[in-house]
Amino acid sequence: MRLNDPKLRAAIAELGVEYQPDVSFAGKTSLGIGGTSDLLLIRKHASLPELIHLLDNAGVPHRFLGGGTNVLLPDGDLPWVVLQLARHKEDAVIEGNSVHVDCSADLGRTVTYCAKHDLGGMEGLIGVPGSVGGALRMNAGAYGTQIGPFVREVEVYRAATGRIETLRGSEINFEYRHTSFAPDDIMLAVRLELPSKPYREILQGIRICNEKRRSSQPLNQKSAGCIFKNPPGGSAGRMIDEMGLKGYGVGDARVSDRHANFFVNAGHASAADMLALISYVRGRVREMYGVELEEEVIVWK
Ligand SMILES: Cc1cc2nc3c(=O)[nH]c(=O)nc-3n(C[C@H](O)[C@H](O)[C@H](O)COP(=O)(O)OP(=O)(O)OC[C@H]3O[C@@H](n4cnc5c(N)ncnc54)[C@H](O)[C@@H]3O)c2cc1C
Repeated sequence: MRLNDPKLRAAIAELGVEYQPDVSFAGKTSLGIGGTSDLLLIRKHASLPELIHLLDNAGVPHRFLGGGTNVLLPDGDLPWVVLQLARHKEDAVIEGNSVHVDCSADLGRTVTYCAKHDLGGMEGLIGVPGSVGGALRMNAGAYGTQIGPFVREVEVYRAATGRIETLRGSEINFEYRHTSFAPDDIMLAVRLELPSKPYREILQGIRICNEKRRSSQPLNQKSAGCIFKNPPGGSAGRMIDEMGLKGYGVGDARVSDRHANFFVNAGHASAADMLALISYVRGRVREMYGVELEEEVIVWK
């Protein structure tokens, strides 16, 4: 999608939003898959309502991208312009046990920054790549820790009202890889409440989680983490592994040899290859186990 109207581009520039034409999103996603589109980089949260108003009025479809580590984008010319929050130099401010973080911040760096201030609890999330906003969207979690329980307030652009609002943590439902935010809400900043813990102790927890990840996941290959959510009481990876599908591929899209719920781009996989692999594996699991696997990766369609 191209923003061809010069008047619209001028109005967007006036909001302080950076316009980047013809961006390849294969280079902006951890799967290395995705076509091209114009990118709008949002520098000030306050500009978002007006930006979306302008785009909607001009009939320009748009999608929001965080760190790009949990998405599968289509190939070719994308039918949306892509919005993203610009990273800030100082993205976290600590006051006592309270941490105010911009949603563009890197989640892992936030965990480390808090650790250095003797604030822990989020050690399990250390190796979850992507932004704080992306983690909020899906209630990211690992090794028994999820971000949801630490959330006290979220500043969010609400699509339903067209305004920026502040929600209390208790007003948000955080479940396994699911939250009650509306699909087109955009999270802008969050206040987390973290327990005090000595840095050395947190570091020890971080090291253990890093080691677990390194020994079980294909971290040197392009992936979006787990492709499927685990079904209640089960493990998608175990089922796929039991069927002998590790290494199975469609084009350059492969089931990882290391972790059967990680599908990797082993070269030049297209979105069509990855979707075909997802569909094939889901069908085999359905036949063998009678279980319908739900995607954890967000497929833009
Ligand atoms: C190697 C690897 C390991 C991983 N391990 C884990 C793991 O252990 N646990 C886990 O939960 N996940 C894991 N993931 C998946 C991914 O890292 C997380 O889901 C992460 O939280 C996604 O954040 P992101 O910023 O990259 O989101 P993106 O991929 O950019 O976006 C994902 C979705 O969230 C939406 N979104 C992003 N930011 C915002 C925002 N600010 N407001 C509104 N919507 C937004 C996007 O529109 C999109 O629909 C892993 C991924 C990789 C590549």
